[in-house]
Amino acid sequence: MPIIASEKELSVYENMAARFDVAAAKLGLDEGFQKVLRHPSKEITLYIPVMMDSGSIEVFVGYRVQHSIVRGPGKGGIRFAPDVTLDEIRALASWMTWKCAVVNIPFGGAKGGVVCDPEKLSRRELEAITRRYTAELLDYLGPERDVPAPDLGTNEQVMAWVMDTYSMHVRHTSTAVVTGKPLDLGGSRGRREATGRGCLIVADQALQRLRLNREEQRVIIQGFGNVGSIAAKLMQETGYRIVGVADIHGGIYNPKGIDVPKLINHALEAGQISGFPGCDPVDPMQILFQDCDIAIPAAVENVITSHNADRIKARIIIEAANGPTTALADDILAEKKVFVVPDILANAGGVTVSYFEWVQDRQGYFWSESMVNERLEQMMVASFNDVLGYAERHNVSPRIAAYMLAIDRVAFALRLRGLYA
Ligand code: GLU
Repeated sequence: MPIIASEKELSVYENMAARFDVAAAKLGLDEGFQKVLRHPSKEITLYIPVMMDSGSIEVFVGYRVQHSIVRGPGKGGIRFAPDVTLDEIRALASWMTWKCAVVNIPFGGAKGGVVCDPEKLSRRELEAITRRYTAELLDYLGPERDVPAPDLGTNEQVMAWVMDTYSMHVRHTSTAVVTGKPLDLGGSRGRREATGRGCLIVADQALQRLRLNREEQRVIIQGFGNVGSIAAKLMQETGYRIVGVADIHGGIYNPKGIDVPKLINHALEAGQISGFPGCDPVDPMQILFQDCDIAIPAAVENVITSHNADRIKARIIIEAANGPTTALADDILAEKKVFVVPDILANAGGVTVSYFEWVQDRQGYFWSESMVNERLEQMMVASFNDVLGYAERHNVSPRIAAYMLAIDRVAFALRLRGLYA
């Protein structure tokens, strides 16, 4: 049925659940298991008091949602952003379960968030929020329980504070409690670049399927943080032409191509990409709809919706962000025959190398960068082929195929374990 633009868009969690329902029905998953896997297993809300630099006390709201620990410890990032909601964290936790199952790593899914604006907080205030957040979650975190990582608004430093706070309480250094740490504290080589590198790997796979060359591909990326900037850099190095980029403050477009290393320097100096010489300015919310062959949303959820999906000009979408496309937009993109590499596959490079980091920490033996990258590539290519094979066999989109594959794997483990009552 055609989608009409006035149809009501869903919340982030509802968008996850809409795809879950379709995939579970196609799998013929029994109703009881559907109920179990559709909902998270635990949701924790925290009120985090912090003494601000001004001397006043502020209370920040934080969440940790564990969606599933059926296949292993909970795994997933911590997001610091002013618009974090429980609905969003619940969806992100579920996506982590599916993502870990798609790439077949032994983790469940979890996600955390704190409602705050890290750009407006001092380093000391950020540290205070992070340490109190971690201390409150002490009973729930741990290398065998739930292993956080960076996400929007958090970084290696924040992970170092999580690791230190947890370690101080358990009375020994526990590096495997968190991933995405600094290299000198048990971080993994290649982790910082892993999500962007994973996007390059799946883009190459998509081109192979569609029999296209890198050199003919004009790429647009929305988001120029850790994921977007690295994807842009690695893709340009391998022959793709980056023609448009946007961050939260503004976008730039140049059909002849943008010099990414120079743009990264400009962004570091100016604090934003706007004003980069030789490019036309574009509204960041419009960047994905400019002329290009590959569009990469690498920022936030719900940016490609039923209201704008018909304006996508790209032949391929690589979902570097979690949940950038709404369920209503899926049908419009399918009608336009856009090849969508879904988030739970496209951005799984990050958590895959998080898994490598966790393994290295537990062994106390660290791998070379080339070994990390090689294994990442093997796992991403295998997962891409698994998903596309599933899509062909079941005659569904790659997104529904990825959900089906993931749900099937989690349900299989759940069936073996049984319910504890
Ligand atoms: N925050 C990243 C994601 O959404 C990484 C999670 C992790 O490494 O645990 O996939």
